[in-house]
Amino acid sequence: MAEITNNPYYNLFQKQRSHQFDVANTSCNQRISKLNALQRAIEITFREEIKEALHKDLGKPYFESEMTEIYQIVGDIKYVKSNLHKWMRTKKVPTPLSMLGASSYIKYEAKGVCLIISPWNFPFNLTFGPLVSAIAAGNTVIIKPSEMTPHSSALMKTIIEDIFDDDEVALVEGEVQTSTNLLQLPFNHIFFTGSPSVGKIVMKAAANHLASVTLELGGKSPTIVDNTANLKTAAKKIIWGKFMNCGQICVSPDYALVDETVKDAFIKQCKIWLEEYYGENPETSDSYGRIVTSKHFNRLNAHLDDAKSKSSTLNSGGNSNEDNKYIAPTIVSDLSDNASLLEDEIFGPILPIVTYKNIDEAIEYINAKERPLALYIYSKSNKNTKRLLNNTKAGGTCINNNIIHYANHNLPFGGINNSGIGKSHGYYGFKAFSNERALVKQHTFGITELLFPPYTSYKEWLAKFTIKWF
Ligand code: NAD
Repeated sequence: MAEITNNPYYNLFQKQRSHQFDVANTSCNQRISKLNALQRAIEITFREEIKEALHKDLGKPYFESEMTEIYQIVGDIKYVKSNLHKWMRTKKVPTPLSMLGASSYIKYEAKGVCLIISPWNFPFNLTFGPLVSAIAAGNTVIIKPSEMTPHSSALMKTIIEDIFDDDEVALVEGEVQTSTNLLQLPFNHIFFTGSPSVGKIVMKAAANHLASVTLELGGKSPTIVDNTANLKTAAKKIIWGKFMNCGQICVSPDYALVDETVKDAFIKQCKIWLEEYYGENPETSDSYGRIVTSKHFNRLNAHLDDAKSKSSTLNSGGNSNEDNKYIAPTIVSDLSDNASLLEDEIFGPILPIVTYKNIDEAIEYINAKERPLALYIYSKSNKNTKRLLNNTKAGGTCINNNIIHYANHNLPFGGINNSGIGKSHGYYGFKAFSNERALVKQHTFGITELLFPPYTSYKEWLAKFTIKWF
């Protein structure tokens, strides 16, 4: 206990703990007015500042900030507002005949004091997205955004302080030590978005207090292009999905797994689309971003050096500029199996092409790795698509597209095992931050009372009768 009271965030945590029932008992309209304030801040008051912060932190094109940050959060808020009434309602469920005299309900109640730890690649979207769900469910929240995108984190702090008192929502900036300190506190729910390795640290810390967790993690998301696929449209979408935000997207196609008979034609199409999107020199393109930090810039260049040292084929790109953390959109093929690009999540603008001879070989290749956050299939063959769907596992899948499943609020978003635990977005996000409390109300004499002790032979007969007929 002494240890916890010395924690630098103990007082803040206690403040929220004392206030949690006031927040939990807010009406739907009260929660909607908080969401309105957040929407106004993002859509109107701070819109330009958000785009500037993202440009400073990630060189993010203004258009991408509009679409992948502002639109996503505002869309999420609108969706939640139009459904919250329905979600919050206590739901009546059937009661078995053996419980005659009672009614049963599910009451959705806030989990309590929640922690949101977010990453840097979509700083606003991946911080405010979970916050929207947490507010909708009636929780108090402490947020720890990433230290890698300081302009965005500082602006989010301003926005939060502008809208909320810190006994309801607070944002603390800091590096790993800040997370470590926060993780020592007995939160009721922890929503973490980041890498699988840190996800394990978060889950271990949560275990100390048996806090529930939502872990939105990453990994290598395969993209299969079979020999029936429309290569032109496959390349058009894969190049868009891979190089948006400079490949720093959790659901980015990590590598392309291509039928060997269409490999050359597919690469040719990829190069056409690369030039179409970013011109001859992507470094001068306003539509192409930058790598977040020098550490990540060096990590990605180390992958490229490793690939070059293992006699791979560089199909496109491969050059970089340390001064502005630019790495050219790169396509590389003929990699050896032990190339680091085929082992770790890439999280950058490098697309390795791996070939397969038949669908079974592709399935075996995918299943030898950790279960991915996303798996994409480009095919016109229902048979191949079904085979891939039924013999692999993934958090989500698009057929003949990539990434867009993230944007549908009606779908659960999340991974499986190494790529995540639990789901978010829309109703699934509301559920993640809610306790589904089982509620039974006894109205009249209940027939279960007939089975109370002492256990006579009549009661034994009655129990057998109940088991058989009810
Ligand atoms: P990260 O795991 O390094 O950091 C995420 C957060 O955890 C940051 O706020 C960071 O300060 C904190 N953190 C880092 N080390 C910590 C430690 N030892 N203890 C406690 N907290 C710590 O991830 P990142 O580099 O910010 O983001 C990239 C990763 O996130 C990729 O793996 C990507 O796939 C994944 N990601 C997943 C999703 C999703 O929705 N599933 C979305 C975006 C990113």
